Amino acid sequence: MTAQSPAQTTAPVSRLKTGAEFLESLKDGRRIWIGNRKLDTVFDEPGLRKGAELMAETFDDQFKPEFADATTYTDPATGELSSRAWQVPRSPEELRDRRKIIEYSSLKTGGTFGRPSDLSPGIVAGLMAYLPTFQKKKSLIDGCNPDFAENIEAYMEFGRKTNLTASESLAGPQTDRSNPKAAEAAFLRVKKATKDGIYVSGAKTVGSIAAQANDIFFTNLGGLTTTPPEACIWGAVPIASDGITMISREMVSQPGASKFDHPVASMGEEADQFIVFDNVFVPKERIFNLGDPDGMSWYGPVCAFAHWHVLTRLTVKSELFVGAGHMVLDILGTGKIPAVQQMLGELVQYQQTLRAFVTAAEAKASYTEAGVLVPEVGMLTAGRLYSIQEYPRIIHILQELCGQGLVMRFGKDAFESPEIGHYLNDLLPGHGVSAMQKEHLMNFIWDMTSGALAGRVALFENVNSSPAPRLRARLYEEVDRAKFVDQVKTLAGMDW
Ligand SMILES: Cc1cc2nc3c(=O)[nH]c(=O)nc-3n(C[C@H](O)[C@H](O)[C@H](O)COP(=O)(O)OP(=O)(O)OC[C@H]3O[C@@H](n4cnc5c(N)ncnc54)[C@H](O)[C@@H]3O)c2cc1C
Repeated sequence: MTAQSPAQTTAPVSRLKTGAEFLESLKDGRRIWIGNRKLDTVFDEPGLRKGAELMAETFDDQFKPEFADATTYTDPATGELSSRAWQVPRSPEELRDRRKIIEYSSLKTGGTFGRPSDLSPGIVAGLMAYLPTFQKKKSLIDGCNPDFAENIEAYMEFGRKTNLTASESLAGPQTDRSNPKAAEAAFLRVKKATKDGIYVSGAKTVGSIAAQANDIFFTNLGGLTTTPPEACIWGAVPIASDGITMISREMVSQPGASKFDHPVASMGEEADQFIVFDNVFVPKERIFNLGDPDGMSWYGPVCAFAHWHVLTRLTVKSELFVGAGHMVLDILGTGKIPAVQQMLGELVQYQQTLRAFVTAAEAKASYTEAGVLVPEVGMLTAGRLYSIQEYPRIIHILQELCGQGLVMRFGKDAFESPEIGHYLNDLLPGHGVSAMQKEHLMNFIWDMTSGALAGRVALFENVNSSPAPRLRARLYEEVDRAKFVDQVKTLAGMDW
């Protein structure tokens, strides 16, 4: 396909998957366990099925005029209509455009999917941003010599052309952190290297969305221990590869519930899986680093787009918190109470601050050697730290605004019951809204702040892309303070 000239009238080649095609792509023999139950397909577990169906809607939305700009773009090199998830920003305008799909997927899932289809392409874009660095790297494992840069470019193309969804699993299984040997034991590592690829065994953990994705994109973060050379790998394989077994955590959503009772939890969930690799073959073409500990130290820069995604999603979620809080004041008639106004003011402060961090990270974005425009890491890290530090307080304020309404929820069936419905309808109306309308809002806020799904999401926010202590350490390590020291010296007249 060549780029389309203005004279052409035929539609460009489309690389967009439909929702049905996405769901079909998950029927590939993947091995998923929940409890002692092996699923035949991902659709056998209602929470996973509903979550996959919600993801399928995001694929169908690509074809709707109202979502086309947010979710798709025309690839400049091929003229092909592609998902924005796979767009690599090379100008401020493209960076702003790429953000649209993050805001879209965050709104679609109420921010409860931290790893929607547009998250992991950000890591591949991060590798693209540092292509010259990976070009210079060589395999340090004898017997297999992939061309990392060529592979990164090819994977980007593969992802774009197939509208791919990948999970990304970077952290290692949780073991005895005081013992480097214990941490290393579960690391995914090379067992055998051949000229065609490597065989790896070990495990990846908390692979969010893995059971509902096509591929798994993986590396090993060292944590307290340095990563041994045979575990220094960046790679990707289909999640249905021979030797991969996924063990899912218990489900926390309410897939059978009505949209009234559980406006968010009824949409299913992105579940988290423990992923065991037993002698899994990783073809040479899907290896992006092999044996080089220095390649692992690129986690921060390479994940900048993914971290920008996390911060942007939390910003969208903060806007939902403000919107819901505003509605609570309206329907409870508490909006004229100064103390209540101040609580809403705090939600607004959170939202405005997060939006400012996103804006600043983009305004301070810089071009890498490969010509990719990457949001500024210092702003991303400080913004992410602020977002998770304040999260419990923001949740608490929203709960506080709701008073008893957040607990005293009865469900659609109770409201529609001929015996008791009239009591609820007559005795519980809000300010300008019916009792049922009031409860509908409370049900939404319950799902966002208080139910089992909200509990999982809150834990996810706290650690999913580094816990707060680690983010503080990153600020210490990565934000240059020399200029500030000079300012102090100049102001104080310290000529030493
Ligand atoms: C619901 C959920 C979904 C997740 N999804 C993904 C995913 O999709 N992909 C992925 O790669 N990861 C995912 N994660 C994992 C996440 O990356 C890790 O939880 C995180 O890196 C923290 O590691 P850990 O849980 O192993 O903490 P541990 O290493 O067991 O440490 C426990 C705690 O000790 C403290 N601590 C430990 N080491 C340090 C240190 N060096 N500096 C400062 N403090 C420290 C922190 O407070 C930490 O929370 C997910 C986690 C959760 C809970």
